[in-house]
Amino acid sequence: MRTSGTLILTALAALLAMPAVAQQASDVIAPESPSAIEQKAAVRATKHMVIAANPLAAQAGLDVLRNGGNAADALVVVQTVLGLVEPQSSGLGGGAFLTWYDAAGQTVTTFDGRETAPAAATPALFLGADGEPLGFFDAVIGGRSVGVPGVPRLMEAVHAKYGRTPWKDLLQPAIDMAEGGFAVSPRLNTMITEDIERLDTQPATRAYFFDASGAPLAAGTLVRNPDYAQTLRAIADGGADAFYTGEIAEKIVAAVNTHATNPGSLSLKDLADYQVKERPAVCAPYRGLSVCGMGPPSSGALSIGQILGMVEPFDLATLGADDPESWRIIGDATRLAFADRERYIADSDFVSIPKGLLNTGYLAERSALISRPTALTDGDVKPGEPPWDKAELRMDGAAFDMPATTHFVIVDDEDNVASMTSSVENAFGSRQIVAGFILNNQLTDFSFAPEKDGQTVANRVEPGKRPRSSMAPTIVLKDGKPVYALGSPGGSSIIPYVANTLIALIDWKLDMQAAISMPHMLNRFGTYELEAETSAEGFVDDLEALGFKTKAGDLNSGLHGIAITPEGLTGGADPRREGVAVGD
Ligand code: GLU
Repeated sequence: MRTSGTLILTALAALLAMPAVAQQASDVIAPESPSAIEQKAAVRATKHMVIAANPLAAQAGLDVLRNGGNAADALVVVQTVLGLVEPQSSGLGGGAFLTWYDAAGQTVTTFDGRETAPAAATPALFLGADGEPLGFFDAVIGGRSVGVPGVPRLMEAVHAKYGRTPWKDLLQPAIDMAEGGFAVSPRLNTMITEDIERLDTQPATRAYFFDASGAPLAAGTLVRNPDYAQTLRAIADGGADAFYTGEIAEKIVAAVNTHATNPGSLSLKDLADYQVKERPAVCAPYRGLSVCGMGPPSSGALSIGQILGMVEPFDLATLGADDPESWRIIGDATRLAFADRERYIADSDFVSIPKGLLNTGYLAERSALISRPTALTDGDVKPGEPPWDKAELRMDGAAFDMPATTHFVIVDDEDNVASMTSSVENAFGSRQIVAGFILNNQLTDFSFAPEKDGQTVANRVEPGKRPRSSMAPTIVLKDGKPVYALGSPGGSSIIPYVANTLIALIDWKLDMQAAISMPHMLNRFGTYELEAETSAEGFVDDLEALGFKTKAGDLNSGLHGIAITPEGLTGGADPRREGVAVGD
């Protein structure tokens, strides 16, 4: 087949033309522009490394490692600083998933710090008075969409199990920054500016993110957040209990339940009852490696495992990244995985999920569907019939998702690895700010419609349930040892962002930075999305000739990853955002 794109070559040429990214985080805040894509150079280190979406957070995490802390310590610092300097994406009022490699035990495990629906929530939570699903932002803004946050309990549980630096010391960097002030980053300014209309309707949030003249905080403005410092102090002294009970919990409940136009129904008991859940990692084989990550309530690891399982019979290495045939195979495997995801995946503590979604025989059957010369048609793409323990009838859900979120990766001196995706869901979550942090809108990751044609949707709202996620904090093992750790924000695009990056690393042998910088090409639902103003647009004619619909657009991922080799660590930070890799 004729090759039309020059995906890798373009990335490499741009990389060679660029100076290396400075290792000092404070040097590298730069405005984003599309021309920055394909232009970052990999960062190398031998002892330890942190990659996070904001240079201040990456540097604070590195300081912990330099002072003898480990990855479990550093993740508390990275998360609490991100909650201050990148509040649109994650924080104490949100949820997170962590995939963790424990070097001492040589095991991979996961922690589910996903938000939960209040006990009073019903399947009709997102239906209007007319019984029809609400509009997305009508559901998001206010109290209705707020789930019980999971981040404070997750940080505490991981630190208690694996950390070594005193808990109090780990909250201090964010307290100091909240009191001394931090400079608004260009991206935070952009996000405020793009969200003016929505932020403007919420008085407390408006007071924080706009200056005295009513303008969005300009990049470089020094901002203090004394409320956040006070909240962190309480958690430093009292642990996560100080968040889930007492004054902070009361403030959260009041903000949610007394919202003027869109109240929720959260109780103090919902907060006090919150539990972080350690769950076995979901691992899928791919070309001799084991790709491990977060199982339900996230669809991340299952869907990525399905995509990889379906493409494995094809020789992608020989085809290469520039052959449209590679993208036909990857794009249609992605569509088939999304069909199963929509039908079957939800919180497995509430609904039964087919146990055979990663079954080798099942994936071979699904893969056979794409052994053909042209794209699948809409009619060809249906959920499969994977093996069940206890079959249940299901209808496809319809959940919106609009990207915010953050991913960070830490490797410490002892080779522990933290791969963590953390989120308040939409940018600025529910647009409510309480005690210095943003409250999530994660409940809108449930299907708004609880049933269809008289059959239940797996991802319907239920009391105490966790909304289905796409977050995919991933660690890849070879012979039981980690070789890659990566993840991304991006709503359900997280799944193809991470799957495609894995294929670029494993089949096309790109280094971590080049794999992350590779222009995006995704086919989740039948239209091939191509990253605008990159060489991905060069594939339009060939993909359309294969039968795909195509659409060019902004695909603002936020991939961060580290390759771990006997020679050292190679980090890649997404050039589409302002994250950096720092290490020694
Ligand atoms: N709420 C989404 C999820 O849990 C993440 C949103 C995003 O990545 O922007 O899958």
